[in-house]
Amino acid sequence: MTFKELNISRSVMKALEEKKYALVTPIQQQAIPVGLTGRDILGIAQTGTGKTAAFAIPIIEQLAAVSIKGGSCPIRALILTPTRELAIQIDEAFTDYGKYTRLRHTVIYGGVPQNSQVRMLKSGVDILIATPGRLLDLIKQGFVHLQSVTHLVLDEADRMLDMGFIHDVRTLVPMLPKERQTMLFSATMPAGVEKISKTLLRNPKKVEVTPEASVVDTIEQNLFMVEKMNKIGLLLNVLDSQYGKSVLIFSRTKHGADKIAKTLNQHKIRCEAIHGNKSQNARQTALKDMKTGRIHIIVATDIAARGIDIANLGVVINYDIPEVAETYVHRIGRTGRAGNTGIAFSFCSKEEYGLLNDIQHLTGRKIPTLAVPA
Ligand code: ADP
Ligand code: MG
Repeated sequence: MTFKELNISRSVMKALEEKKYALVTPIQQQAIPVGLTGRDILGIAQTGTGKTAAFAIPIIEQLAAVSIKGGSCPIRALILTPTRELAIQIDEAFTDYGKYTRLRHTVIYGGVPQNSQVRMLKSGVDILIATPGRLLDLIKQGFVHLQSVTHLVLDEADRMLDMGFIHDVRTLVPMLPKERQTMLFSATMPAGVEKISKTLLRNPKKVEVTPEASVVDTIEQNLFMVEKMNKIGLLLNVLDSQYGKSVLIFSRTKHGADKIAKTLNQHKIRCEAIHGNKSQNARQTALKDMKTGRIHIIVATDIAARGIDIANLGVVINYDIPEVAETYVHRIGRTGRAGNTGIAFSFCSKEEYGLLNDIQHLTGRKIPTLAVPA
């Protein structure tokens, strides 16, 4: 998905283009449309998934849409973050994304003299990025007023709690208007974060991206919509088209893996099945045979495949759609490694539509469908 599809204003679009942001990350894809409506958000995603833009863009868009008349410029958005480094990074992100708006922002954090921070505050800012301690300090001294805040962000909430900022947050929140949008972002969701989210957020939309949700671009994904009974015929076809490459076929059950292997062998296609019922020895042999090129195809269950490493695996076939969406990402992630390209084929029957939807929701993309060969 591109930012254009999210109906971002022209000024922010221009800034993103300059940043060369071609695609929207999964957390952004989920959070930005919700954030733009002003609804509260509970966002869970690992570091490096683009959370800053996920809250910064909705804030910039909403604030830029309302122009404040007159000279005074009250703080309308407050971003709380645990460390000075994070605060500075977020401030830079607002500089970048809000480059072509008239919004003003500044950052305050402890451990440095407060003079220049106070000067910035006095000149008026729309958006304030702050670590909790310094913010409370400056509030006490009367340099910061929060009664006009309409947007609050708690960034890295789990770290904030780990670092003992919970008390500061509890002190700060009653100073804010009750009518506001609150967005809480965290990499993990321990009980403490769950608890604070309940007191801070009103009817939040939960948006979540597990680390496994990112599929690398070096893997070409393909989907076949196929009747269950036609899967074996399709498999023979796909194997034929991928002849000579190393292939890993996933089956949900041990029984299924054995059955596939047996059928392939009947068709004079050499392969071996590995699953929990096989001895460690048999599994090692299968892997060795793959390495030496005696076989090119292994049929495996998810558990058996865990931890095994097949160098130069070219093709992953999901004979069954996995029950848990993350498993899909694990499975296809076995190919396309170390700069090599990989290709994945998923066989989806009517009964598996729901599981397929979960996967596409998790990865944030639709898997392109191929026509089943006649
Ligand atoms: P997080 O807060 O989840 O750790 P950041 O918001 O700091 O992640 O973003 C991590 C990096 O990814 C930053 O360098 C940022 O500029 C970049 N980034 C964010 N969104 C995108 C995007 N849509 N396309 C390309 N790069 C992006
Ligand atoms: Mg961050």
